[in-house]
Amino acid sequence: MEDQFYCLRCGKYHPQSEKVIITTAKGERRLSCVHRVNAKQGNQATRDAFGKTVTERNKALSKEISKRSINPNHKP
Ligand SMILES: [Zn+2]
Repeated sequence: MEDQFYCLRCGKYHPQSEKVIITTAKGERRLSCVHRVNAKQGNQATRDAFGKTVTERNKALSKEISKRSINPNHKP
């Protein structure tokens, strides 16, 4: 356990090489780790991709709805 530190964010020990000091928006320095940093970046990318998918789906849906409302004979 000599070369490890306890990560409060993960709740477990990591090697010192995985230690990362992050600075919060308030300027506070917090102990973090590469796992948290990577997870945060990954989540952001996933969220961006998901947001794009939702936007595309909404576009397609509104197009579909307007098509249906134009057609008076449409029965679901
Ligand atoms: Zn960690």
